[in-house]
Amino acid sequence: MKIHEYQAKKLLKSYGIPIQDGVTINDLAQAEAAIDQVSKDFGAEQYIIKAQVHAGGRGKGGGVKFSPDKASALEHIKSILGMTLVTHQTGPEGRRVRKVMVAEALDIKQEFYVAITLDRSTGRNVFMVSSEGGMEIEEVAKTSPEKIVKESILPGMGLRTFQARNLALALGLDGAAIRQATGLFQKLYKLYREMDGSIVEINPLVLTEQGNIIALDAKINFDDNALYLHPDVAEMRDLDEEDPTEVEAGKYDLNYIKLEGTIGCMVNGAGLAMSTMDIIKQVGGSPANFLDVGGGANVETVKNGFRIILSDENVKAVLINIFGGIVRCDRIANGIIEAVKELDLDVPVVVRLEGTNAVVAKEILANSDVSIISADSFKDAANKVVEAARG
Ligand code: ADP
Ligand code: MG
Repeated sequence: MKIHEYQAKKLLKSYGIPIQDGVTINDLAQAEAAIDQVSKDFGAEQYIIKAQVHAGGRGKGGGVKFSPDKASALEHIKSILGMTLVTHQTGPEGRRVRKVMVAEALDIKQEFYVAITLDRSTGRNVFMVSSEGGMEIEEVAKTSPEKIVKESILPGMGLRTFQARNLALALGLDGAAIRQATGLFQKLYKLYREMDGSIVEINPLVLTEQGNIIALDAKINFDDNALYLHPDVAEMRDLDEEDPTEVEAGKYDLNYIKLEGTIGCMVNGAGLAMSTMDIIKQVGGSPANFLDVGGGANVETVKNGFRIILSDENVKAVLINIFGGIVRCDRIANGIIEAVKELDLDVPVVVRLEGTNAVVAKEILANSDVSIISADSFKDAANKVVEAARG
C-alpha cells in the first residue's frame, strides 16, 4: 500500500526525523488560510505548492511549483488543485490532483537521495544513499550506478552505527551534519522495520544553507500482508489513488492487476496466472489483466472474476485457465455456464480445465447451450483465445 507525501512525513516526524512540514488542503476555499498558516507557523515568505498524488516525478510533471510570494502561491494552488498531472509514473492518462501541500520554500545547499528496501538478490534489506539526489535519480541509477552507495543490513543486527556513518560520509557531509544524518538514518531504518515498510524513500533529503538536514520529500510503501498489524497505517489508504477495478476485486479477495492488452485472463494460482500471461504473449497476444482467483475457486469467484474482467472495455476475449487441484473442474464448469448466462456475455470465452474431474467438466461444457470454446492444452487455449480476440 502507498501513502501520500504528507502522510509519510507525519510518520517520519513521529520517529523524530526532521521534515519539511506544510499544510495540506483539498479545497480551493482553504487556500488562503493555508498560505497564512504556513507563513505564521514556519515564518515562510516564499512557498512551494506540491500536488499530493501516489506517483513520483511530480516536480518534472509540473506538480511542484515555487512561489516567491502569497499571490503567486495562490495562483499555483489554483492551477494544481484539480489538474491532471502526468508524470513518468502515472502513465499518459495522468492522475487527478485532489490534494495539495503548501510548504515553505527552503534555501537548499545540496540534495541527496536516501532509500531503504529489500534487496531480493541478497535476501537482506539494503540502505542506499547518493549525493546526486533530486529529480534526476533515475538517470544516475542508469548512467553512473557507482554514485549510489549501499549498506547491506544483517538480519537481526539492524543498521549499525558504523554503517550509518559510512552512509553519511558517502554524502560528503562534515561536522554536525554527519551526526544529524547518522541519527536520521537509524531512525529511518527503525521506522522501516517497525512499520513493515517495503520501500522508504527520501528524495531529496537536503542540507540547507543554514546547515540542517531535512527530509523534503517522503515516500513510503507498506507490505500489504502486514497491514493488519498497523491499523493506523491502513487508515491512511486513499482509494481515490487506486485503480477502481483493483479496489473492487480486492473486495472479493481476487488478486487482480489491470494491464494494457485485450485478452482477459481468469486463472487459479499466481504461478499459473504468470505463465498464462507468458504463453499469450508467446503466441502473439497481449493479456488485459493478471487475475488469480485463488485456490478455492467456486461459482461466486468465477462470476465475480467475469464481472471484473468485463468491466475493462479493452477485453476482446476471455481465457479461463483452471487447474483443478482442490477445486473440482465440474464445479467450475457449472459456474462458467451460470456466469455466462447471467452476465449476458458478448465476448468469446475459451476454457481450459485440467485436473480433478476435468473429463466430467468438459462434458458439462459440451452439453450446455452456451457458446464456449473448449481447449485441450495450455498452448491450444492460448492460440484459440488470441485468434478469438482478433475477431
Ligand atoms: P517529486 O519527487 O515528486 O518530483 P519533490 O518533493 O521531490 O517531488 O520536489 C521536487 C523538487 O522540488 C525537489 O527536488 C526540490 O528541488 C524542489 N523542492 C521541493 N520542495 C521544496 C522546498 N520546500 N523548498 C525548495 N525546493 C523544494
Ligand atoms: Mg522527490
